[in-house]
Amino acid sequence: MLTFGTIIKQNASKYKNKPAVIFQDTIKTYEELNIRANKIGNAFLERGFQKGDKVAVMLKNHAAYVEIMAGLSKIGVIIIPINYRLVGPEVEYILRNSESRGFIISKEYEGIAQELLPKNSQLDTVLVVGGASNENIKGYVDFLASGCDSEPNIEVNEKDTFYLGYTSGTTGTPKGVVISHRSRILTGMAAAYEYKIDESDIHLVAGPVYHAAPWIFLVMQLLVGGTLVIHESFNAEQVLEDIERYKITNTFLAPTMYNFLINTREDTKTKHDITSMRVLISAGSPLPTQTKMDILEFFKNADLNEFYGSTESAITLNIKPGDIRRKERSVGHPFPLVECVILDDEKNPVSNGEVGELYFKSPYNLDGYYNNPDADAASFYHGFFTVGDMALQDEDGFYYIVDRKKDMLISGGVNIYPREIEEVLYSHPGILDVAVIGVPDAVWGESVKAIVVQREGANLKAEDIISYCEGKLAGYKKPKSVDFVHELPRNPSGKILKTTLRDSFANDRNGIFHIN
Ligand code: ATP
Repeated sequence: MLTFGTIIKQNASKYKNKPAVIFQDTIKTYEELNIRANKIGNAFLERGFQKGDKVAVMLKNHAAYVEIMAGLSKIGVIIIPINYRLVGPEVEYILRNSESRGFIISKEYEGIAQELLPKNSQLDTVLVVGGASNENIKGYVDFLASGCDSEPNIEVNEKDTFYLGYTSGTTGTPKGVVISHRSRILTGMAAAYEYKIDESDIHLVAGPVYHAAPWIFLVMQLLVGGTLVIHESFNAEQVLEDIERYKITNTFLAPTMYNFLINTREDTKTKHDITSMRVLISAGSPLPTQTKMDILEFFKNADLNEFYGSTESAITLNIKPGDIRRKERSVGHPFPLVECVILDDEKNPVSNGEVGELYFKSPYNLDGYYNNPDADAASFYHGFFTVGDMALQDEDGFYYIVDRKKDMLISGGVNIYPREIEEVLYSHPGILDVAVIGVPDAVWGESVKAIVVQREGANLKAEDIISYCEGKLAGYKKPKSVDFVHELPRNPSGKILKTTLRDSFANDRNGIFHIN
């Protein structure tokens, strides 16, 4: 049966004392992981939980995350991973929307649980990892210890729901994405195949596990019997230190994390032997070409892959190391078993080189949005699914993500995709970070604005930036205005919050983020 719990059970018998998870210097073998998974599953059963019930998990990265995933999977209880940076009302929305009965939290979020407990009558079990306090809230370790260690006797089907992953809300209210066991296990298998990962590999989990990509790669590495090194949160120095210490061979990092690594102080960068690293994976937002080159220069022994995906679709397209230098800005080809089409507004396929909306049929796709038929109707079309990204395919079959449909601007009746402009601006040596948006314009409807974070000492002026685009972009795509800011607003997974920027510049032409 394709469930995470079954695979951990099988691996416990196959790999026994092999390290499965290393977290803060503590090693858990496959056998230990399986026993702890059984205990947590049985403890929930003894508490009256049944297959189909839901348990929300708001944890910083921790070894407990893995045993909870396996244990709940074994009893068919659905996991709701929650972004630990969310505040009370946002957490409450997800707890209510998902109808969670259980809630497992890190010690530092106990306050949120205390606040929400009286208002959420469906919540009957709250567990704290790191020690509990009052009578309504229990310690995770004591709760786990109360469960017996035999395999839970619950039949879980691969088509049953493994978890509900909530979208980050970059483009609107978070939606619950229904992911089956089958979908996530097949994604993990396909990833191991595509990235050539096996039982000899050691994977670093440095991104937050509540987010789809770190979750997928965690599953991938354990499926094939390798070892995970989990970091509580991303820290560039600790990443470099542990690559050397544990001889880490592969990792997934978001583009901002790669940027942090590359911009780490030179003496820290050269202090560690990072030659064990052989597979690097990026996704979540475009990896600028310059950053790619810097990564390849820094990790001399590693191959770099960039995939395109989402909470809903896992991995859809991937560009392999051999193509990454010659096909700039491409996200490659469909992942194994994925079928892609690019459709125009009338839902007809576009020709090569033309931009349209990307739809795909894939075994890794969501089953649907949770209790949200409107979102389903807007996203599925004859078995194909879209997250609303605009794409094109070149004459060699390579795909390019042009932009999110919602971020496109129309100036003088012409469609403009900010990502193309951002890519050009990222190549400017004085620009550290940049976002391009459309702002209201009395003549053109909308006009292009660049919002720039400059490198220390660059002393750029708006004219420098506009003239830099000369010869690199058609005249109508060049920014008409430039604002300088200290920092761009980003969500926890590193995505620039364009809606926040657009709102700010729509109300105040100078923008609230203006430096001067
Ligand atoms: P919401 O759906 O609530 O707006 P979100 O978009 O942040 O949240 P995710 O599933 O984390 O949710 O992000 C998926 C999106 O990230 C894709 O639809 C795409 O726009 C973007 N993306 C992911 N990988 C890449 C990539 N390699 N290149 C360009 N864009 C990417």
